[in-house]
Amino acid sequence: MMNTKFYTNLTNKSLSGEILSSEECQAILTSPKIQLLSLLQAAYKLRFKYWKNEVRIHIINNVQNGSCSEDCHYCAQSKSSSAKIEKYPMKSDDEIFKEAEQAYKAGAFRHCMVFSGKCQSKSRIKHLVSIIKEIKSRFPIEVCVSPGFITEDEAKILKKAGLNRLNHNINTSANHYKNICTTHSFQKRIDTLNAAQNAELDICSGVIVGMGESIDDIIDAALTLRKFKNVKSIPVNFLLPIEGNVLTKANELTPQLCLRILCLYRFLNPAVEIRIAAGREYHLRDLQALGLYPASSIFMDGYLNATGLSRKKTLQMIKDAGFTIKSDQNLDELIDREENAYESNITSESVVMKKYSDLHPSFSKMNVEEQNED
Ligand code: SF4
Repeated sequence: MMNTKFYTNLTNKSLSGEILSSEECQAILTSPKIQLLSLLQAAYKLRFKYWKNEVRIHIINNVQNGSCSEDCHYCAQSKSSSAKIEKYPMKSDDEIFKEAEQAYKAGAFRHCMVFSGKCQSKSRIKHLVSIIKEIKSRFPIEVCVSPGFITEDEAKILKKAGLNRLNHNINTSANHYKNICTTHSFQKRIDTLNAAQNAELDICSGVIVGMGESIDDIIDAALTLRKFKNVKSIPVNFLLPIEGNVLTKANELTPQLCLRILCLYRFLNPAVEIRIAAGREYHLRDLQALGLYPASSIFMDGYLNATGLSRKKTLQMIKDAGFTIKSDQNLDELIDREENAYESNITSESVVMKKYSDLHPSFSKMNVEEQNED
């Protein structure tokens, strides 16, 4: 077993801004001498310093889904995937605003609008400016956009419109990137992060583990993200085996390894919002709540095209583990309100894909309201 000093040293080194040694990073992920609860406690000290016991809830919204020209092997929207997903062009402004309102009322701190495709046209960027301004004027919610590749000029335009954060994941290490995508390079992704940073936008950029990468690749990706001072948020995804995708099962991910990875990302990026992202239910299983000790945020309402734990269970888990949410909505009231709401039949063995109504929550609500008015 590692002695107490080992864990204290991890916390102290991170707090002082020192980078953990390669041996320490390796030990966190692989050593049989690690005691998981001691490791979680060491990571929690950092989490508590920067985030107290608050959890930031993110709700992701595919404002455009599918038909992408790129071949990212993990993505159900890629040209290389035959996954059965609902494909649609950009949602109407009305639908986007209604869903931003729903996210705010559900306790989300940030509304994440995701576009499929590698980049956006000039007219789309202009359109996005009006959408960002309108959402920000209507609701006290932060806005994040995931537009694909972006130039510095485009990033500056979005920043000026009031965008809080831009998402662009690096997904894995520079070394492993060629194994997960052949239509664009790792450098292209780094160029987008540089463009966002030069425009002084906050950046959300994360990884997907379980894609055949080595332990060194997991460590390298965390160190790459550390180099960007504007990376304020790191979603750590665990590969979901979506039927029809090129990559469905590459690495054996155990709940314990997932927790070790979350701890490593906390030690290497102590002040950043670390998010337990896709695959939380599938890979962490009954240990999901322990992920809140290193991580300070989670997704609710599932992921891009896969469902997740129901809202009620997600919120109850946060409360039961002794955490609260960063929102002006009351956690207890939200739990009560969600009594009979959205329930997914997600299990830890199978991935359940989103239906039309999951992807268009306001549309289903509009129909109900319209029917009630008739
Ligand atoms: S991850 Fe983005 S760029 Fe890659 S295939 Fe999916 S939508 Fe396209």
